[in-house]
Formats: sequence, C-alpha cells, structure tokens
Amino acid sequence: MSSQYILALDQGTTSCRTLLFNESGQIEATSQQEFTQFFPKPGWVEHDPEEIWSVQLDMIRKVLQQSGISATQVSGIGLTNQRETTVVWNKKTGKPLYNAIVWQDKRTAHICEKIKAEGWEDEIRSRTGLVVDSYFSATKVMWILDNVTGARELARSGELAFGTIDTWLIWKMTGGNQFVTDYSNASRTMLYNIHNLEWDQWILDNLDIPRSMLPASKPSSFDFGHFEINEVKIPIRGVAGDQQAALFGQQCLDPGEAKNTYGTGCFMLMQTGEEASISKNGLLTTIAWGIDDKVYYALEGSVFIAGAAVQWLRDGLKVIDDAAQSETLANQVDKDHDVYVVPAFAGLGAPYWDMYARGAIFGLTRDTGRAELVQATLHSLAYQTRDILEAMQGDSGIVLEGLNVDGGATANNYLMQFQADILGTDVVRPAVTETTAMGAAFLAGLSTGFWTKDELSRVRIVDRVFSPGITDEKREELYRGWKKAINRTKGWIEE
Ligand code: ADP
Repeated sequence: MSSQYILALDQGTTSCRTLLFNESGQIEATSQQEFTQFFPKPGWVEHDPEEIWSVQLDMIRKVLQQSGISATQVSGIGLTNQRETTVVWNKKTGKPLYNAIVWQDKRTAHICEKIKAEGWEDEIRSRTGLVVDSYFSATKVMWILDNVTGARELARSGELAFGTIDTWLIWKMTGGNQFVTDYSNASRTMLYNIHNLEWDQWILDNLDIPRSMLPASKPSSFDFGHFEINEVKIPIRGVAGDQQAALFGQQCLDPGEAKNTYGTGCFMLMQTGEEASISKNGLLTTIAWGIDDKVYYALEGSVFIAGAAVQWLRDGLKVIDDAAQSETLANQVDKDHDVYVVPAFAGLGAPYWDMYARGAIFGLTRDTGRAELVQATLHSLAYQTRDILEAMQGDSGIVLEGLNVDGGATANNYLMQFQADILGTDVVRPAVTETTAMGAAFLAGLSTGFWTKDELSRVRIVDRVFSPGITDEKREELYRGWKKAINRTKGWIEE
C-alpha cells in the first residue's frame, strides 16, 4: 500500500499532541493529552521527561488506533517541540538525572547575572544571536551539573547527554540509537554558533560544559533514524522548534515573509534568508531551518502580554464574559475616541526593554465606556505587533509584504482588520491554523518525497485576507498616539 499520511508530533509546554495529515494537508485525526507541571519553588517549572515520552507515545498509538490508519500508510514523522527546555540523562542507563527544566524557569537568573558580570554578553550574542537569559538552555545545563550529586564527574567522564525535548524524544523513539538535534532547536541553547553550525567551544569552555554531552546537529528536513511501531519502521524526517515550525507551516519560505502567533503573548518571526542579521533593536537572531544544504535565519521578537490582556478584561476587570465578546463590544463603538491601553503589566519587551514600565490607560473622557476600553485593549495587540515589525524591518532592511497570522486571538475579525489597518499591509489567516504541527509535517513530507515544494503551496489554503482600510495619514496619527502613550509609561516604578 502506498504511504498516504504524515504523522506530526507536537510536544508543547502543557500537552503532547499527535496529528495525521493527508496529502492535501488536511488533518485526518488528532490526539492530545496534558502532562504534569511541577512548580517546586517560586519561579521554578519542571516536567518529567519520562512522562512526556510516555504521553507522546500514547498519543501516537491513540491517533493510529482511532483513525484505523495503519503504520504502513505513514510516509514519515515530523516532530516539533517546546524550545529551550533542558533534559540531562545518563547515556548508559537512559535515565534522566533530574526533571526537565522548562523554558519558563527562572532559577538560573543569578547565573546569567554572573555571565554578564564577566563581560561575555556581547561575545555570546554575536556567536549565538541570543541575549543572555535564563530562558535559554545553557544556564539550565550548568545548574544541573552544579546541583545534582555526581553530575559533574559523570559529565567529565563522557557519560551524560544533554538535549532539548526533540533530542530526548528522538533518543527514545530510536531506542538510544540517535543522539541528534536540528539547527533550529540547537540555536535556542545559547551554546550553538549559528554562523558555523557548531557547538561553540569558546562558550563551552567559559561555561564549563563538556562537548561530549552535546548531540549532533542536523538540518531540519533530514534522516533522523526511524521509530518502530506495530512492527513497522517509520522514518523520522522533520524536526524544528515550535515557533520555527509555525513559520515553515505558514510557508514563509522567502526572505521578508513573517508570521505572528497571537496567544497569551505574541511570537513573531521573520525569515531573513541565508544571512544572519544581528539586531540593533533587542530582537533575537535564530536559525529558522536547514533544508536542501542551506540554512535560513529568522529574526524573532515577542510581546509578553497579548491575549493575556483580553484575559485581564475577562478575569480581572470582568467587563467581558469570554474572549469572543471582545469582538462584539469593539464593533459597537461607533465614534472615534483616543483611548489607549498599554498592557505593560510586566514591563515592556522589544523594542523598548523597560522593566520599570507599568500598564496604563490614557485618554479617558466622561463618555468612555466599557466598549471603548475593550476596543483599546484589542488595539494594544495590534500596536505592539507593529512595534516589533518596525524593529524587524529596521534590522533586516526588508519591507514586509503581508503578515501571516495564527493563534487563538486570530479568531477575532475586528482585531485582524485593525491589525491590517495599523500595519498598512495585508494580514493573512490560513484555513488550517495548526501551523506548528503543519510545519513539522511539511519538513518531514519534503524529506520523504511525500510532497514537493510546488505541492506544498497548493496545500496551504487561505481562510481570509484582511486588507488595510484606512488612509496613511490616519494610520500614522493613530500610531503616534500609541508612541505617546508608551513614552508616558516608561520608567513608571523607577525612583
Ligand atoms: P496559548 O497557546 O498561549 O495558550 P492560544 O493560541 O490558545 O494561546 O490563544 C489563547 C489566547 O487568545 C487567550 O489569551 C485569549 O484571551 C485569546 N483569545 C482567544 N479568543 C479570542 C478572541 N476571539 N478575541 C481576542 N482574544 C482571544
């Protein structure tokens, strides 16, 4: 029987999912299950690597069982995963030394301070494209080596393995035969030189991390070994970190193409081609993917509070019953108003980087009501997106031709239209918003020959394009108001 499906594994921060895609890029079946989050101390977040593997395996079995599709009908596996989360295990026993330390975990902030005090920040940035932060894997590996009894000795004798979740799952799927990662995941460790595609010896020496712990790094569309299930060997052929997979799933295959994911926060990535551009505006430079002997780079910026501002309207202010109601209310506003909500609840990220800023509402008048407040909150998602995009265009010199969107808040048509208005460019919403899993499936399908690049472009179906509907003059007037509001919130809690 010919292969008719690609199996996509989407190992996220809260759940493991498995999806089966058919040749037209439609989802035939899905399975999903959450796993345990451990919070041992304030600011600490851990996962159990063994649990992640067992839940992911269950989800593979379940999707095959429920769909009645046989493993022989699967052409290949694509894997995408939560990035940066760190697992250290013993190569001989296969047992983790400690729980996985999750990307959100802040326990290594003091190690980052030390690295900065050594004056290594600029050098690390130019080699890895990243800022020194506890978010990335490097200081999490250091923490495990320094805090788990015997870890340092085992590492020195070459017995330990470090991997992000992709590496761990491939190790498990191949019965310990493959100790590998892909370039996109490697570029999130703060140990990887994104220019020469090697683990950076200068960083490893300074952070005292043995080279023997690190996996081989490979292109994202590649032969990663095989996974045997029901006596069938399925090749693992696509691997990418979740945000890069979403960029690929949105088919941002040419420089200057970008996607923005509107979830709790926003994650925006712009593909910048085969040259890595280092940001002057506080954005990260990261590897998008490696494919066909080429490496493509991306600029990445995130907004801390996006959909979370809508949650604040619902749970904090209680002015809406559910997120969808924000659209109804925003549409009820029938006259122009100059209300701006700056949701700097936790300071301001790129391109402002002001941890002393705090949230504020500006321009209130006697006739400001709930609808205006809700509308202004939705606007804040769009303005923050423009801030990041301007930084990306400034760094890359590339002007955006259209923004591809996904994530929960893209269901809001009012928001999408306002986004197009304020960017002055089209906003494109795909029919299948499972872009992360799709990206992993595409990477695998290209590698097995299940799809050609031409076929991929036919697989992607656009749900709706939102085009700018206001004048340039109006757009700039609105955006000037936002900049003014931002300036008033800066440094708010500083003495
Ligand atoms: P995450 O992956 O971060 O959990 P999702 O992609 O599931 O996020 O999106 C959920 C977020 O989107 C929530 O913060 C929610 O407030 C917001 N959201 C969901 N639906 C809407 C809507 N119709 N309008 C505005 N925001 C929405």
